[in-house]
Amino acid sequence: MSRYIDTKLFSAQLRERAIIPSEQKILIARLNGSEQEKDLTTPVNCQGYGRIRHFRYSKHSDWSPNPLPILPAAQALGYTADEVLRAQIFQHAACNWRCWYCFVDFTLLSANLRVSNYFTAGELIDMYLKEDNRPEVIDLTGGQPDLAPEWVLWTMEALKERGLAGKVFLWSDDNLSNRYFWDYLTPKQRNIIATFPKYSRVACFKGYDEASFAFNTLAAPDLFNQQFEIYGDLLQEGLDMYAYVTFASLPHHDICSAMARFVDRLQAIHSNLPLRTVPLKIEVFTPTQARITSEHQEALAFQYEVHNAWLEELSKRFSEVERNLLITDVTVRL
Ligand code: SF4
Repeated sequence: MSRYIDTKLFSAQLRERAIIPSEQKILIARLNGSEQEKDLTTPVNCQGYGRIRHFRYSKHSDWSPNPLPILPAAQALGYTADEVLRAQIFQHAACNWRCWYCFVDFTLLSANLRVSNYFTAGELIDMYLKEDNRPEVIDLTGGQPDLAPEWVLWTMEALKERGLAGKVFLWSDDNLSNRYFWDYLTPKQRNIIATFPKYSRVACFKGYDEASFAFNTLAAPDLFNQQFEIYGDLLQEGLDMYAYVTFASLPHHDICSAMARFVDRLQAIHSNLPLRTVPLKIEVFTPTQARITSEHQEALAFQYEVHNAWLEELSKRFSEVERNLLITDVTVRL
């Protein structure tokens, strides 16, 4: 028996419970009572199925800043970007991978009906509209939202029905693990998503090579390569795409060559893609604590070396002016 997740099978099994297509309902994680809730800085909202997230530009003095989704949201909404951005979060209660560093309880990723509930996109938007002091940014996350790619589409329809299309910034996450975007959406539906006003998507590369990818996700190493194919195909569809990468890995004897290969892969999609890619520092959260082994501790320490290799590689390929461009001014359209 393989020690890796059978991503294709697990995705199909999760989707069985994570969406009811005939009723246009999505399974949403209930956050109150979770381990994740202990890390939240403000109480959960939307009857326990939503939360406010504070995205911070310069969260870590020892790491690259994170402009996502602060700068895309500010540009879309016509504001000057601030250090902190508030966003309304809803979490899909399913994910097909099991990253050891995930800040979500694994039960909230398992399409577990005891800690989740079905909602239409309209019901979620209506709960959001009832909140006081609601942000103008909605983030559909998880979990892996694209186990049910209809969710983004239905949210757009719900926003349009309520006169909110183009009035809020819509952001969604993607772990680049499946092709459900093409399997379950028609070309017309994909075009609606690609052209919806003020919508952008971020996809996360879970490692910089096959070994770090498998170490982080428990998915088979060859799916590392599939991440690049899916990313390129989403760009081809015309989506406004950004990227994250995580650098946790066991110590690597030749990190500079591995990083050069990773950046080559990004540039094979678009020469500017490294400048649209933000390295995420892995931190330990309450749900993570019980999962961490000594190997993970090593990976947490080694990520700084990988981050340095990333900065070094970027400095070889891009001028200082290019590296200092606002991420929203970097073009990656195909
Ligand atoms: S892919 Fe994302 S949601 Fe899924 S386990 Fe990894 S970090 Fe968590």
